[in-house]
Amino acid sequence: MTMRLPPFDLVTPTTLQEAAGLISDPTASIVGGGTDLFPKMKRRQTTPVTLVSLAEIDALKGIRIDDEGRCVIGAGVTLAELADSPLVPAVVASAADAIASPQIRNTATVGGNLCLDTRCNYIDMPELWREASGHCLKDGGDTCWVAPRSDHCWAISSTDLAPVAIALGGSLRLVAADGERIIDVDDFFQNDGIDYHTKSPGEIVVELLLPAFTGRATYLKHRRRGSIDFPLLGVAAAATFDDAARCTGIRLVVGAVASAPLRAIAAEEFLIGREFTDDVIEEATRLASNPVRPQDNTDTGSRYRKWMTPVFITRALQEIASDDTTNQEEEP
Ligand SMILES: Cc1cc2nc3c(=O)[nH]c(=O)nc-3n(C[C@H](O)[C@H](O)[C@H](O)COP(=O)(O)OP(=O)(O)OC[C@H]3O[C@@H](n4cnc5c(N)ncnc54)[C@H](O)[C@@H]3O)c2cc1C
Repeated sequence: MTMRLPPFDLVTPTTLQEAAGLISDPTASIVGGGTDLFPKMKRRQTTPVTLVSLAEIDALKGIRIDDEGRCVIGAGVTLAELADSPLVPAVVASAADAIASPQIRNTATVGGNLCLDTRCNYIDMPELWREASGHCLKDGGDTCWVAPRSDHCWAISSTDLAPVAIALGGSLRLVAADGERIIDVDDFFQNDGIDYHTKSPGEIVVELLLPAFTGRATYLKHRRRGSIDFPLLGVAAAATFDDAARCTGIRLVVGAVASAPLRAIAAEEFLIGREFTDDVIEEATRLASNPVRPQDNTDTGSRYRKWMTPVFITRALQEIASDDTTNQEEEP
């Protein structure tokens, strides 16, 4: 069983236009830091002929505040740079700091994190294992081994930055050979383990744009080992309040329980205009956690993740209510 990288050509364009031209070849794939792509190539989940590295493109680097007060984060910024930046909202820096390990954060990029492929116990296996057990839907087979009667793939969105970016009302600038567009991060993702985002293969994520935010925000991540693991569950919340402590706006997002980060719209609507009393938090938690249906396709069982979902939602809302908005995580 080989776990070596398959052969590939590496190209390192220095401009976005050049990269966009190269990536329009369907056998090519973008590589940011390669911390997710290279393990997948070793497992033969993907075997691109050409890798288009974004490492030499200056337009993808740096973090700045633009004329509209937005925080503009280049897709080539590493997670370590993001975690250390005084320009980004504290909740973004602390979420970045809770991703993987220091070595991975030194290499991994913001663009790669937002485009992170969905994960599942059945697909994230070496080729020989997958062949022996029968290829799943995401692997070109005709059965989802997590939910065999299902006609779609349940692989999980595990990006930690996406729930936070959605909670803060962020958007993405995408560039392709024939033009560019800006899309809300919320609309960038879709709840399908195979087609998990709405980006076309020829589009490059260039920037994450975060509007100026003066409210309270938090991201609570639950994972087995605080030193390295992917989230079992992530809850991001960002809210504003009036002088009477009534909520004037909120976004509540649950990550790592479906193929996309899930907005808790019913809970958000319920919370607007209300003070975050214990009763209000209890009802909002019920509204936000009821639709969450984790599957048995990652670390720990689905029942455990379902059980922990209201616990983390309640804690996130309590933090927002008390303005104790620091990123925290707990081990199972
Ligand atoms: C042990 C381990 C633990 C991890 N823990 C976590 C964790 O806790 N949380 C978490 O979120 N992630 C985790 N990861 C996953 C991964 O390391 C990070 O998500 C990382 O940010 C990916 O960034 P990258 O630049 O290395 O992406 P790459 O591997 O280079 O790319 C990932 C995907 O994004 C595409 N891509 C990259 N950049 C762009 C771009 N600018 N535009 C369009 N497409 C692009 C690539 O084509 C590829 O499909 C972990 C990985 C490992 C190995």
